[in-house]
Amino acid sequence: MAGVARRWDLFLPVSLFVAAVGGPTQQPASTPKYDLLLQGGHVIDARNKISAVRDVAIAGGKIAAVDAKLNPADALKTVDVTGLYVTPGLIDIHTHNYTGTGERGSYAGDNSVSPDGFTFRVGVTTVADAGCAGWRNFEDFKQRIIDRSKTRILAFINIVGNGMRGGAYENDLNDMEAKPTADMALKYPGLIIGVKTAHYTGPEWAPVERAVEAGTTANIPVMVDFGTNKTERPLADLVTKKLRPGDIYTHMYSGLRGELDPSGHVNPGMVEGRKRGVIFDVGHGGGSFLWRVAMPLMKDGFIPDSISTDLHIGSMNAGMKDMLNVMDKFLAMGLSLDNVVAQSTWNPAREIKQDALGHLSVGAIADVAVLRLEKGRFGLTDMNGARMDSTERLMCELTVKDGRIVYDLNGISRPDWRSLPAQYGPIGDGRWDGLNPARGTTPGTQPGRGRGAAPIRR
Ligand SMILES: [Zn+2]
Repeated sequence: MAGVARRWDLFLPVSLFVAAVGGPTQQPASTPKYDLLLQGGHVIDARNKISAVRDVAIAGGKIAAVDAKLNPADALKTVDVTGLYVTPGLIDIHTHNYTGTGERGSYAGDNSVSPDGFTFRVGVTTVADAGCAGWRNFEDFKQRIIDRSKTRILAFINIVGNGMRGGAYENDLNDMEAKPTADMALKYPGLIIGVKTAHYTGPEWAPVERAVEAGTTANIPVMVDFGTNKTERPLADLVTKKLRPGDIYTHMYSGLRGELDPSGHVNPGMVEGRKRGVIFDVGHGGGSFLWRVAMPLMKDGFIPDSISTDLHIGSMNAGMKDMLNVMDKFLAMGLSLDNVVAQSTWNPAREIKQDALGHLSVGAIADVAVLRLEKGRFGLTDMNGARMDSTERLMCELTVKDGRIVYDLNGISRPDWRSLPAQYGPIGDGRWDGLNPARGTTPGTQPGRGRGAAPIRR
């Protein structure tokens, strides 16, 4: 997308475009207070307990004001989002993104997906990779994917030094070392936000114990994919004895490890674990969500703390479609939109200790999703291909990351092309526009590099 030469726009001063596309309320003469104003949407902000129509103003990549009425004259750009929901940028804490190594059949390779193709278009601005890399290959993951993506990528580091490279590696207890894992986490605070243990097939507790040891040293949570069900290490013991408050049990509706008790109710151990402060996460994936498990647990009131996709090549086109599709499933099971948004924003932000994300407080990082709740006849499928009918579906209209629009499905932030000069070029302003900023308006853009050249900010 970068570097498309637009020779004709070189001959037209930027001010001409600005004058041409801005209405009287969009282009005040003096430097405006706000870069971007989202006007008239229904804001859902769980941290600040807001679920009401509010205007949201952004300046310098941060939330600048949230109020019932803000003056468009104070904004460089105003977008009317009446009838839509305005939420913090969605946070998906279970994805797999360490692609590009060329390793077949590996989550440190071909099983992973590049995040940018799956995030902004569904309102996700932050993902946490769930343990594709361990301490031996984390820095390769960082330079190969994390540093080059537009999506904000955080990571759970695998307790396995080689990461998620397949069974031979993931069952090697000799490569599960707490110290180098914790050392790598401490080297990248705020980037490595947790420790992962996953896919273990043996009877030992060692993978969990060493992950907890590393997590304790680095002061970050542990996320557990509990692997093969083993009588030697029952789920109830994991969540009532082995994990600390704040540690995360993912794949909570898989049914693979006794989440659903033979009595047809939630495993009493999970209820005890939740009382202790253990966190329960969806992690839908290709093999971890069944209606016949989720429905009885939801009926028992065992709702998720956080909603996540477990995005990878095996899940992305199957029962799990994307983050909004997983959220739709919880709407279909009776949760309120306020609840589902909280479980996809502020709750996961807290779980991974990222207090600057997941809310719209003044001063917070301006990551925002603008969502449409469509009514109609829809269907939602689980890991075994069973369908549940539904009447609501979330669509993403607009995504803002670090204060700039990075996705706009229907061009609601754009002028009608017929209103523009005959030879119009990119008409946005880099202060609010991450897609089509006119040359010279993007902070950090080098002359001649064209669009898409803005630095990635984390
Ligand atoms: Zn996973």
